[in-house]
Amino acid sequence: MSNRHILVVEDERPIREMIAFGLRRAGYEVAEAEDCREARTAIADQRPDLLLVDWMLPDMSGLELTRQLKKDRETRDLPVIMLTARAEEHDKVAGLEGGADDYLTKPFSPRELLARIQAVLRRTAPAGDGETVRHELLSLDAASHRVMAGDNTVALGPTEYRLLSFFMTHPDRVYSRSQLLDRVWGGNVYVEERTIDVHIRRLRKALADHGVDHYVQTVRGAGYRFSTRPA
Ligand code: CA
Repeated sequence: MSNRHILVVEDERPIREMIAFGLRRAGYEVAEAEDCREARTAIADQRPDLLLVDWMLPDMSGLELTRQLKKDRETRDLPVIMLTARAEEHDKVAGLEGGADDYLTKPFSPRELLARIQAVLRRTAPAGDGETVRHELLSLDAASHRVMAGDNTVALGPTEYRLLSFFMTHPDRVYSRSQLLDRVWGGNVYVEERTIDVHIRRLRKALADHGVDHYVQTVRGAGYRFSTRPA
């Protein structure tokens, strides 16, 4: 496998260079951008596998950049880890709801950064045909369309299967109803957002039979998230 390519978006040069140095030493290919405009160009030209985005940037906040990337069909699957000096819980929530895949508060150790990058790359890897996605007790086999909870088969309708498949390949992130509509239903305009709640209920009911319905979490005022961590 070729080296994974990481784009570091940070205006403070010493920090950016230190991060880039650590990543290169760990075997990653690294590109650097000092503002959102440069980041846009680098994303289009170099198609990185992951972005590290500082919250405070000169031309636009890193949060806004992340929001824009996650809205764009071309870039929405590009994993983003937000870097920030802010440690407040509500900033973290804003970062994650803005679409960031993870969040790291400065100062962080190079080891911690590498661990987060590996975790995000692992969990955002698209599930190809024949691949099994697993989260704790639950596993989903894309080739056979079979979902197992431990040793038991979970009976799901086709829509619930697609919903669960999307969730399991995009864990620990909040999706609004309209995002789910777009991603799972392909933006079908005839499906109402209410319909999503119905399918979420059915999915939970099927998972509840196996005691794993708590993986499908409601995030008040935001949408839904799949996570094996407590809500
Ligand atoms: Ca900065």
